[in-house]
Amino acid sequence: MKVLWNDQIVDESEVKIDLEDRGYQFGDGIYEVIRIYDGYMYMEKEHLDRLWVSAEKIRMTLPFTKEALSERLHQLAKEAGLENARVYFQVTRGTAKPRLHDFPDPKEVPPVLMADIQPASRPTAKQTIGIRAGFVEDKRWLHCDIKSISLLGNLLALDEAKQNGYEEAVLVRDNYVTEASASNLWMVKNEVLYTHPDGNLILPGITKIKIREIAKALGIELKEEAFTDKELLAADECFKTSSVAEIMPIIEIDNQKIGDGMPGKVTKKILHAYIEAVNLSVQA
Ligand code: PMP
Repeated sequence: MKVLWNDQIVDESEVKIDLEDRGYQFGDGIYEVIRIYDGYMYMEKEHLDRLWVSAEKIRMTLPFTKEALSERLHQLAKEAGLENARVYFQVTRGTAKPRLHDFPDPKEVPPVLMADIQPASRPTAKQTIGIRAGFVEDKRWLHCDIKSISLLGNLLALDEAKQNGYEEAVLVRDNYVTEASASNLWMVKNEVLYTHPDGNLILPGITKIKIREIAKALGIELKEEAFTDKELLAADECFKTSSVAEIMPIIEIDNQKIGDGMPGKVTKKILHAYIEAVNLSVQA
């Protein structure tokens, strides 16, 4: 499989990552995932912009431009020959020896970039039936707005939910629902759409940007306000969003039905509009 390794596209077998790469040792890095639909990188600009925002927040200077990275990602997608896929890319703070907590001088230690492409298809079967989730205490750090490769807090939450027999974790911090383990979380109550406001407690999703546009176009009232776990259990509908999961209905939380326990009508309307928006971008 071809991958991007710094500025080269090489066979995966040629990649050499140093044992002292700070991503490997400290989780000192950031990443992005972009969905490719019929060869089109959906909301690529927004994902690249967020990578630069994450870099700034961790005080990392990226040694390439957005244009150069974009060109490489497109080249990789072309070489991989995958029309429906997701591209994962990450940048670590590079290899500094010996291992030291201090950030190295970026003039001496360049960041390390990699990207790979894997096939992806739309999760239509799951979207039709919805998923079952469980509440998990949000014990992550207070920089959830950074798309950090240090995902242990998210992984522990997902694992806790799975151990309890659920497919997903709905994270709760001080009684308020923040997001899911790798997606943003939404509820519909009395025809109004609610989601946690951006800030340091959640990742500002790129899919979230699109849902804002869709809600406006469909005349759905949107309130970016935090809600409690109890309020969520009393909601009419619930769903999560991410570039890969798109709009995914959540039909039960902690074995309690949300609404009538089926994907809701507002959820379905938003999903439909999302796929229309994807198709319009692909055709443009
Ligand atoms: N929150 C978290 C914690 C995530 O990991 C993700 C997916 N990367 C999201 C939200 C959704 O982000 P996006 O819509 O950009 O995929």
